Amino acid sequence: MMSPPQFASDIGGRLAAVSQRVAMAAERAGRSASSVTVVAVSKSFDAAVVEAARQEGVLDFGENKAQELVAKAAAVAGVRWHFVGRLQRNKARDVVGTATLIHSVDRLELAETIAQHARRGPGLQRILVQVNAGNDPAKGGCSMADAPELVRRIRAIEGLACEGLMTIPAKGDDPRPAFRRLRELRDELRSSFPEVGHLSMGMTHDFEVAVEEGATIVRLGEALFGPRPQFGTDRPAGHPAAPVPPG
Ligand SMILES: *Cc1c(COP(=O)(O)O)cnc(C)c1O
Repeated sequence: MMSPPQFASDIGGRLAAVSQRVAMAAERAGRSASSVTVVAVSKSFDAAVVEAARQEGVLDFGENKAQELVAKAAAVAGVRWHFVGRLQRNKARDVVGTATLIHSVDRLELAETIAQHARRGPGLQRILVQVNAGNDPAKGGCSMADAPELVRRIRAIEGLACEGLMTIPAKGDDPRPAFRRLRELRDELRSSFPEVGHLSMGMTHDFEVAVEEGATIVRLGEALFGPRPQFGTDRPAGHPAAPVPPG
């Protein structure tokens, strides 16, 4: 007999709880729950867990590494994939077309590379511009000050559709001011560029605040899947394995 996939048995219950919390936060803000899309960030969980979530009705999944995205997209059909991690230009080819939305475009050169692959492949790639609204040196994203010009330039590139903004607030800070700044920036941009509508903000520990502040997409990992397995390969960049002892 096959054992159930890791953690998968809890997904239905977690999904119901998350949906309810999104709905209540939306209501507090006078918004409808249907204006918020939950992206299930499945990084470090295997494809069987994604499949179990799909069977519970989850249709949008997020990954932060190109290789993991490609592998899971090949293994699970009938869902949409979002790329939410830092993207190197030499990995862009794998992500373009596989991801319905790339949330993490934060520089012009990356946008141009994505556009090249899009023009050769699917024709159009939907993207968000990642903004470091919490001004955290450890986080990706262009500065608040640079964002309007970056969005303007990206809009002029054939093969890209810039549909909004994404942020990850600074660790340890109250996330609300960063979320609010991002919404204000979006509102400002949208007055000239109506297609710049999405706000991808909010993770497990702050998604209700994000919804109150206008998030249209929340990116949830642990809230849906439980604690992430810690693999040796899952270290963030810049945190190498323990040094090899001399000799
Ligand atoms: C991992 C990750 C998430 C989900 O984080 P949780 O705290 O597990 O909800 C969201 N966004 C990005 C960019 C991530 O890397």
